[in-house]
Amino acid sequence: MSAGTLYIVATPIGNLEDITLRALRVLRESDLIACEDTRHTRKLLSRYEISTPLISYHEHNERQRSGELIEKLDAGSNIALVSDAGTPLISDPGFTLVRQAIEHGIDVVPVPGASALAAALAAAGLEADQFMFVGFLPSKRTARRAKLLELAQIPAVLIFYEAPHRITDSIRDALEVLGDRRAVIARELTKIHEEFIRGTLSELTEAGARLTERGEFVLLVAPPAPGAAAAVEGESLVAHVDRLVAEGLDRKQALKQAAHARGISKSEAYRIVLEEKRESEEERGSTNETPD
Ligand code: SAM
Repeated sequence: MSAGTLYIVATPIGNLEDITLRALRVLRESDLIACEDTRHTRKLLSRYEISTPLISYHEHNERQRSGELIEKLDAGSNIALVSDAGTPLISDPGFTLVRQAIEHGIDVVPVPGASALAAALAAAGLEADQFMFVGFLPSKRTARRAKLLELAQIPAVLIFYEAPHRITDSIRDALEVLGDRRAVIARELTKIHEEFIRGTLSELTEAGARLTERGEFVLLVAPPAPGAAAAVEGESLVAHVDRLVAEGLDRKQALKQAAHARGISKSEAYRIVLEEKRESEEERGSTNETPD
């Protein structure tokens, strides 16, 4: 008997009409649908009168469940994988199953459709030719800022997913680490309260109070201005750091980025800044001396 097929099926991110005819057919014709939350997926299926059996597949049982599903696929069952919203594997479970299916020579077939990142990018009004999907930032502040610093030089729109209770913290950290770039918050996409808040990161911070309301958010941040963090020829490190501060970074981040752009460590940069400052003070001192 030949093996079955694993279909990776995108489902709506809010509006239940955002599902393709092919997705509905595949869900109807599959032997089994693996989903994150059976109650959630049952609502979608009942709207379209689909009665395919469901089995749970989520981040806590992914490893064990993948083995069971591979056995069924090997035995000839066709299985559809869905997540609670959008495209599976995009900040959602599914990777273990897809990997194992590929190793077992099982056909893995995508059935494309909605994803919050594509919907947000399409209407944000930021240059969409190059973008980087980051997904969720770390929840701890230090790790989040370190991640943002890692991304600071990337010449592409950065796309983040964020939870409502962390959106203001993430915007504030993005402002301090990336500088005051253009940014967009795409909120409650495809739902009744869909909203795009466009501005600069500092303007979005001000809009902050409203953002802690319930909802789902995508945060998009424009790329740095070309060469923004790079040193201008002949520019001293102190002047470099001052320029980045003027562009919206806090002083600590400016020092980090200037060091990064020059390929030196932060401590080395700090030492040079102190030295440059001492030298310029000495120069000032010597020009103020009255000649005898
Ligand atoms: N697999 C999904 C996709 O393809 O977009 C993403 C799942 S991830 C667990 C959930 C996150 O996606 C939310 O915290 C939010 O950042 C984003 N998201 C999902 N639906 C959204 C919507 N309708 N509006 C805005 N953001 C959404």
